[in-house]
Amino acid sequence: MSEDTLFARIIRREIPADIVHEDEHVLGFRDIDPKAPVHVLFVPKKAIATIDDIQPEDAELVGRLFLAAAAFARREGIAQDGYRVVMNCREHGGQSVYHIHLHLLGGRQMGWPPG
Ligand code: IMP
Repeated sequence: MSEDTLFARIIRREIPADIVHEDEHVLGFRDIDPKAPVHVLFVPKKAIATIDDIQPEDAELVGRLFLAAAAFARREGIAQDGYRVVMNCREHGGQSVYHIHLHLLGGRQMGWPPG
């Protein structure tokens, strides 16, 4: 049940988080186990389990995740050097929380290809 994921509980303020962004549709908070000097997750307040569950009517909402990430990157001072955004899908993608989230990773040089 996507409404009962860890991130749904963070959105409902049942679990504490280091929140860096909030608007009507999107919450951004720092990853509890950061993989880079800056590692923030941007989640829609609407529960959507995976990329595969995004509906055409969610297109604007998904775009808002990118806009929130880019605005935060500018505020955090990492936009000039660049950063990476990642959204994992299901097991092979490495998804562990089934409420879509855009990872923003920055503050160091990224490698390619990812593991
Ligand atoms: P995924 O593997 O793409 O699903 O990403 C899930 C992310 O959530 C991982 O990077 C975890 O470190 C992160 N995470 C797990 N629990 C928490 C939490 O309570 N607060 C913030 N981030 C979390």
